[in-house]
Amino acid sequence: TRERAQTKFWFERATASILGGVNSPSRSFKSVGGGTPIVMQKGNGSRFIDVDGQEYIDYLAAYGPSILGHAHPVVMDAIRKATQDGILYGTPCPAEVEFAETLRQAIPDLERLRFVNSGTEAVMTTIRVARAVTGRNKIVKFAGCYHGHSDAMLVAAGSGPSSIGVPDSAGVTANTAAEIITVPFNDLSSLEKALACHGMEVAAVLVEPIVGNFGIVAPESENYLQKVIDISHQHGALVIFDEVITGFRFHYGSAAQLYGVHADLYALGKIIGGGLPIGAYGGKLDIMNQVAPLGPAYQAGTMAGNPLSMKAGLACLSVLKTPGIYERMEDLAKRLTQGILELAHHYHETITINRVGGAFTIFFGSQPVRQYADAEATDGVKFAQFFHELIQRGIFIAPSKYEAWFVSAVHTETDIEETLQAVDESFHAMQNTQ
Ligand code: PMP
Repeated sequence: TRERAQTKFWFERATASILGGVNSPSRSFKSVGGGTPIVMQKGNGSRFIDVDGQEYIDYLAAYGPSILGHAHPVVMDAIRKATQDGILYGTPCPAEVEFAETLRQAIPDLERLRFVNSGTEAVMTTIRVARAVTGRNKIVKFAGCYHGHSDAMLVAAGSGPSSIGVPDSAGVTANTAAEIITVPFNDLSSLEKALACHGMEVAAVLVEPIVGNFGIVAPESENYLQKVIDISHQHGALVIFDEVITGFRFHYGSAAQLYGVHADLYALGKIIGGGLPIGAYGGKLDIMNQVAPLGPAYQAGTMAGNPLSMKAGLACLSVLKTPGIYERMEDLAKRLTQGILELAHHYHETITINRVGGAFTIFFGSQPVRQYADAEATDGVKFAQFFHELIQRGIFIAPSKYEAWFVSAVHTETDIEETLQAVDESFHAMQNTQ
């Protein structure tokens, strides 16, 4: 077994000053039956090295952003160069203009946009803007979808109760929760019913075009998203796409473009920052014109559009323009998932894999996962076992059965071979412990 002395040392020390030892609850190993979260020393390419000097192949990708792996030379150079000119002005700067133009070019639906510092802020603001524009209060979201930790979004956000407008978090008021209507993903009739009932009060329907937060879950029919948009518009509600995970994940642009659909507002984050903190939101001109200083909906940010995040983002997107880069990620992910399915078959493990492009989730269960209840019903104990076996063998994935494996642009054939070897040994070890 792997040496963990330094990880234990640092994590114990962390708990004495950082609440729970982690700066985001998803990093704790609570949902995989406990254990000490591995403390990382550095990342390079597709790999991490922890504080005990152990190496891991990284499929966490920092929950999405690290599509170019760690310390990508183009991004590193851009950041190094950017620091020479000072790192924060609190004024407009050319880098934010260039980056806004780059995003608009990639996603023309962003007729106007704003940079913020996180996906949470981006989604939170789209909701405010939608309410400002429509004069309505309620928001429809999909059960199990996480959209950041703003109060309103902590309703049916994954782990807690769904569908009844009850907050998942203490400190969120009942009034806030009452404004959120939750429906299952991939179920148009539930959405139709909800809008038939509350349509006049609904400011926006908020959706991840490809779900990333109860595992990777794609719309099950080609026209699902267009129908979501049509039904919402029929009731005078705006449509917000949360593309914090999906933006630039599957191709150079939005997931909306993959389905040929157009939302009214978009939230972006993660990949577009090249690894630095970022969020962005934007959409139709007449809607965005309602935002201060032009309109009455307020939104601001001391760090928003800071030159470092802008230049890291520009560098990252310039690499993502490389022809074939997304096809390669998909090819590697295909090989990996096919290999995992064969191994599961060999060891009589019942698994279901949802994959879109280079991102996939392995569920322990036989049923298709098309909405949150399906993901909930998969075997979390099995997943926890699998997770710990993989970690022991130097494969790093998120400590939750609801998260994705992300294949990055810098994963290699060797990484895939080594990963399949580790999966083979892990399934083998799981059999012996039954
Ligand atoms: N929306 C989605 C779809 C997300 O996956 C996340 C983060 N996992 C967020 C919003 C929030 O982004 P951030 O953590 O940058 O605030």
